[in-house]
Order: sequence, then C-alpha cells, then structure tokens
Amino acid sequence: MTRKFNFCAGPAALPTAVLERARDEMLDYQGRGLSVMEMSHRSDEFVAIASKAEADLRALLDIPANYRVLFMQGGASTQFAGVPLNLLGAGGAANYLYTGIWGKKAIKEAEHLAVGSHVAASSESNGLIAVPRQNAIQLSGDAGYLHYTANETIGGLEFDYIPEVPADVPLVCDMSSSILSGPLDVSRFGVIYAGAQKNIGPAGLTLVIVREDLLDRARKDCPTMLNWKTAAEADSMFNTPPTYAWYLSGLVFEWLKDEVGGLAAMNAINDRKAQALYAAIDGNDFYSNPIVIENRSRMNVPFVLADDRLDAAFLAESEAAGLLNLAGHRSVGGMRASLYNAVPEAAVTALVDFMGDFARRHG
Ligand code: PMP
Repeated sequence: MTRKFNFCAGPAALPTAVLERARDEMLDYQGRGLSVMEMSHRSDEFVAIASKAEADLRALLDIPANYRVLFMQGGASTQFAGVPLNLLGAGGAANYLYTGIWGKKAIKEAEHLAVGSHVAASSESNGLIAVPRQNAIQLSGDAGYLHYTANETIGGLEFDYIPEVPADVPLVCDMSSSILSGPLDVSRFGVIYAGAQKNIGPAGLTLVIVREDLLDRARKDCPTMLNWKTAAEADSMFNTPPTYAWYLSGLVFEWLKDEVGGLAAMNAINDRKAQALYAAIDGNDFYSNPIVIENRSRMNVPFVLADDRLDAAFLAESEAAGLLNLAGHRSVGGMRASLYNAVPEAAVTALVDFMGDFARRHG
C-alpha cells in the first residue's frame, strides 16, 4: 500500500493513524461484535463515542461552558440558510463581509430568504487579494449579526484578525477551511460553523458552535432540521445523525490532542508548511500568488505558472510524482495546494522539490 500526498481542498486528507485505527475497529468495535456504522445512535456505545468526540473538541478549542456544540448535516452550505433563519426571528439585518466566493454564496442565501443583506465591507475593490481592515467595516444600524468567512478556500485569502463587533451584534463565522488549524478564542464569536471535510473528518457532518443565549432567536419558519435549539435540546440526535462521520471526527480530535499535542503544536507545524510553500512560490519567477502577505491562507495556497500552457504538464507530472489534487478550483483554474492539518510536512517538502525541478526542466 502506498499513500500518496493529497493536497485536495475537500474532502481532504485524513491522518493515516486515524484511518488505521478506523480500519482496525471496522468490523468489531472494541469487542462489541459490530461496526460503529451498524450501531444505534441511541446505544450506550455510540453515545459514549459521541460524548468523547465533543469533550475532546471542547478541550482542543477551549470552548466555554456557555456554548453548545452541534453535530449537524447538510454541509456548511446549509448553514448559509441556517444563520439568518436562526438569528433573525426578531428582525434585524443580515450583515456580511465579502471576501470571496464562499462569502458571496452566504450573502446570496440570505437574499434568497428575503431577509435582505447588507455588505458591511468588501474586498471587491482590491480584487479579493486583501481582507477589509477593521476601520472599513460599517454595520447597518439594525444589524442582527455580522457574518464573515475566516478563510476563503478558493481564493486562498485568510483573515489575520477577528473583527470587533458591538456587544449586541453576534459575530458569525464560516470556519470550514480553517477551524482547528490553530488556537482560537471562541468567546469572540456568537456562532462558528464548518463543514467537516477539511480539518475535522469525512464529509457528511457539519459542526455548529453556538453561544447559548442565541438559541432563542429563530424565525418561526425555521425548518426543524435547521433549528439550532432543536439540535441542542436533542444533543444533536433529533433524527439519526451521521454516526460514522461523527466517530471518525472524534478519532481526528483524539489524534490532534494526543499525537500532535494540541492546537498550539498544530499551529506551529501549519506555519512551517505554509512558509515553505510560499517561499518556493515567491523565490521563483516561474510561480506566483497574488494575495497580500498578511492575508495569505495557511490552509489553501493557490498559485499560477507564469506560462499557463504548462498547466496540464504540471498537473500530469505532479500526479505521476505522487502529489495528488493540485488543480485549482474549477471556477478559477491554476493550481492550489491545500495544506490542512493531516497534510504532513514531508508532503510540502516533496511539493517544493517537485516545483523546483519542474521549473528547471520547463523554464
Ligand atoms: N464555506 C467554505 C469556506 C468552504 O470552503 C466550503 C466548501 N469548500 C463551503 C463553505 C461549503 O461547504 P459544504 O460543501 O460543506 O456545503
């Protein structure tokens, strides 16, 4: 068996140690004689798995006691609707920071739900290469929340600060592609949500971390399955949750805690990986990345070749060298290397070596 280096933006690489453990427990989970996939979500065994996953996540992110952790479905895209439906029951305007394609989708969904939306600041004028600074953020007078995308997965644009909001305006963050990449002050947020398939676990699970006092703000027409309070009151088991994705995410949390040594340790590794790749891009005219230094994403590194006629050769040769999924998002082209937690430093070293070699041969 050869596991290649996988730079996919999501569903993304999982730690090999996690997959090995899942393999070992696949047919007979800890002597119970059945797979986790075959367990009732209400069984003692599964409830223990679910609670351990939540406890480990709480420990990793140091989540305060007045926050609920919800294990939901539908992907981050479903929360684009979930956010206005859960927060604007008493009215108020949906406020957004626009920094890229995912933020735009969130804005569109709010508009689709006829709540209207106010763009409190935007990166459009700079071509989506820098996030708006704090002093550019202008909330509408009746802001019900401020939503932003911590890391734009396609553009490779990441906030280097947490926006300040007035105490009565909850800060809502789509953290799909950056959650767990380093320590986080959860208390700054009203709501954090993330699709699992990058730094958390396999696709099918969506994490929502919500401050308890925000659970009473849902619109009357909020569908039951989207209602955070319903999910909180049922311990995320109002209906059948994605049990196997929940279990595997728990293994990832355990790996982060016990193998990596927590999020400060993960943060240092992620810094080194990103620095090595950006240095390779900046150090060679053959490659470029347009994002301002302080907003360059550590998790998703897009880059283009000076001559895009070489794109196909770059992708074919990198794949042959065991470096998978380096094509940029289908909407923008070019290349993109995603460096999520489970992508080892050796993968970045191999990619940097390949890029140098490719440039020498084709330059
Ligand atoms: N937000 C961001 C920042 C993303 O990267 C993605 C997926 N790539 C989404 C939202 C959509 O997530 P999902 O596919 O889980 O709906």
